[in-house]
Amino acid sequence: MRRISHFIDGAAVSEPGRLGDVYAPTIGEVQAQVELAEVGMLDRAVASAKAAQVGWAATNPQRRARVMFAYKALIEQHMDELAELLSSEHGKVVSDAKGDVQRGLEVVEFACGVPHLMKGEYTEGAGPGIDVYSMRQPLGVVAGITPFNFPAMIPLWMSSVAIACGNAFILKPSERDPSVPVRLAELMIEAGLPKGVLNVVHGDKVIVDAICDHPDIKAVSFVGSSDIANYVYQRAAANGKRAQCMGGAKNHGIVLPDADLDQTVADMLGAAYGSAGERCMALPVVVPVGEQTAETLRAKLIEGIETLKVGVSTDADAHYGPVVSAQHKARIEDYIQMAVDEGSELVVDGRGFSLQGYEDGYFLAPTFLDRVTPDMKSYQEEIFGPVLQMVRAETFEEAVNLATQHQYGNGVALFTRNGDAARRFASTVEVGMVGINVPIPVPVAYHSFGGWKRSGFGDMDQYGMDGIRFYTRLKKVTQRWPSGGSVVDQSFVIPTMK
Ligand code: NAD
Repeated sequence: MRRISHFIDGAAVSEPGRLGDVYAPTIGEVQAQVELAEVGMLDRAVASAKAAQVGWAATNPQRRARVMFAYKALIEQHMDELAELLSSEHGKVVSDAKGDVQRGLEVVEFACGVPHLMKGEYTEGAGPGIDVYSMRQPLGVVAGITPFNFPAMIPLWMSSVAIACGNAFILKPSERDPSVPVRLAELMIEAGLPKGVLNVVHGDKVIVDAICDHPDIKAVSFVGSSDIANYVYQRAAANGKRAQCMGGAKNHGIVLPDADLDQTVADMLGAAYGSAGERCMALPVVVPVGEQTAETLRAKLIEGIETLKVGVSTDADAHYGPVVSAQHKARIEDYIQMAVDEGSELVVDGRGFSLQGYEDGYFLAPTFLDRVTPDMKSYQEEIFGPVLQMVRAETFEEAVNLATQHQYGNGVALFTRNGDAARRFASTVEVGMVGINVPIPVPVAYHSFGGWKRSGFGDMDQYGMDGIRFYTRLKKVTQRWPSGGSVVDQSFVIPTMK
């Protein structure tokens, strides 16, 4: 059986010990085993990273950017291989897997601008003969802990920005689809990154805890479910580290009566069911405003759902593939039953679906529930599967309040032709990322990504300028150069710029 090892100092590193199963979700079988590290392996990775970081930080930013340029070219060259590997462990269709790599690649492109992005500021003559400047310096060794659902994009969000800024990076990828993160690390070394600057350590809670506690790791980036995000945030912060921890989501798509309903339905279908709903920026809740909007939307959604094709990852016609594991499939089915028991109307039931020839795969057809209400647990919690819930609202304000009052605040979308409503919405809704007629408003690489409330812990977002800020610290220098002949200042009061 294929064994997936750690990647330290530019090479595969293996040790006897605990192993985790890596499944092929399409056929429901174990296809590989990943090593689950103990603390000693993290110590080894950190020691290697610490030694390599000194020289890397001293490498001028333009040379660091050249590694990113070469990395970008290598990822493009290996796009098909990466997408197929990703699909085989995650289950998403290959075209979607390419999107996963592509969105990460865009952050590598952003990181190519690091000489400009890290530039400090300078004030000449802040006082007599006094200049003040600030510079951004890397933190040292930093770490990232990533979820299963974007095994290329999220490791790239973190590692490319952290490394371009002059840090060394330890990646702890999801143990469910760990191969692509290792392949990406190999490619970064091939692109010219000194060995040790990027190390990958596989593992579970043991390694996550060790990362939070390790005295030589200065910052922790985390993306995953909210309870763990909060736990990592608290534990890393208690150890004096910077932490940016992104959590779960339950994003609402609000539909006003004046929206282009055909386009909205097409957008909703892609955003609710794409990647089997396993996206933190999916739209699993649709909120039509007014009875007429709800009835029309419902009819069009049912029609649209009938056209969706669930298939294996390599089927170019499939809209989405299996979910990641048998356990996750069972969890989604439990949520569907909970929604029914709570009184919502099961309009389309995706359970019990079986794909011919792949009967053991973790497939679920689309589920659509209507007449869901805010008091239901199945509405309040994240399902993370191909399940769309409709909550009917009478007014625009009621719809906006649903998104604002929900425990999660990752993304939200409004579908309308009314500019005034859209503007008010963007300004007031308490959610971190807003789409106006855009169903999945993941900000481009030169803005920043991050949710609010239980979708994000810590005060800095991923990538964009917040990424640069997170992975650097600002040093401020106030300097005076004597020009000769001046009287010695023997003042005991704090200097002012009067
Ligand atoms: P997860 O929380 O189970 O795992 C995330 C990481 O935490 C993994 O590396 C895992 O090994 C580690 N982990 C798991 N259990 C742990 C524990 N008890 N203690 C310490 N570490 C632990 O998340 P997942 O199932 O891999 O990913 C799906 C979740 O991630 C969803 O909730 C989704 O909304 C969220 N997500 C959020 C964003 C965002 O940017 N907000 C993006 C993608 C995914």
